[in-house]
Amino acid sequence: MGISKTDFMRGMQCRRMLWLDRNRPEKRVIPPEIQEKLDKGNEFGDGAMGMFGEYVEVTALKEDGRLDYSRMIKDTKAYIESGESVICEAAFSYCGHYCAVDILRKADRGYEIYEVKNSPELTEQHLKDVGFQRYVVTRCGVRVLRCFVVLPGEDGEDYRIVNVSAPAKEYSEWVRDNVFELNKIKMQKQEVFVETGLQCSQPYECWYYEYCHSEENKTKE
Ligand code: SF4
Repeated sequence: MGISKTDFMRGMQCRRMLWLDRNRPEKRVIPPEIQEKLDKGNEFGDGAMGMFGEYVEVTALKEDGRLDYSRMIKDTKAYIESGESVICEAAFSYCGHYCAVDILRKADRGYEIYEVKNSPELTEQHLKDVGFQRYVVTRCGVRVLRCFVVLPGEDGEDYRIVNVSAPAKEYSEWVRDNVFELNKIKMQKQEVFVETGLQCSQPYECWYYEYCHSEENKTKE
């Protein structure tokens, strides 16, 4: 068991959030407007898959409807070996740490990572997100030449592509320094206690807000 991109981003906001995701997911409350935003983000991502023309998509589901990670990782490897130019949802795993790249594009002597975000502007969270992908993909032996974030376009353009290669490289080192500790926290048996504070609403409102702020759980240690 390792850390996924979502685990990492949530765990860096709050260690307790990561632990609760794995051990007490029934305690989370996702506001309807957030769920709607997540769904819209998926639609935008699906639309962007064809932005470079023909592509292959790696997404594979098991019979029960959950993502088949092993199959996706295997298929990604096969597509890379056969020289595919554009691989969408390209899946990688290093020491159990997992990520799927929205668009992996072949370039001269390496690859480019494109992370698609349905957001009006580039944020620090986007850079961290790409940093995590760069860390895993590079550790899997793929040479990453450049990283980009794809945002909705302006002035009639469909997309705006922002080069984030330099910050993604810096953040990939930050990922390296934290990912194994987060994995230990995720797997520990005893509940992780973190005092409530600014991290409960920044950068995102936490879905365990009610749980952690209840009298019963506020003082638990
Ligand atoms: S409510 Fe606050 S303390 Fe509790 S998991 Fe969320 S961020 Fe962490």
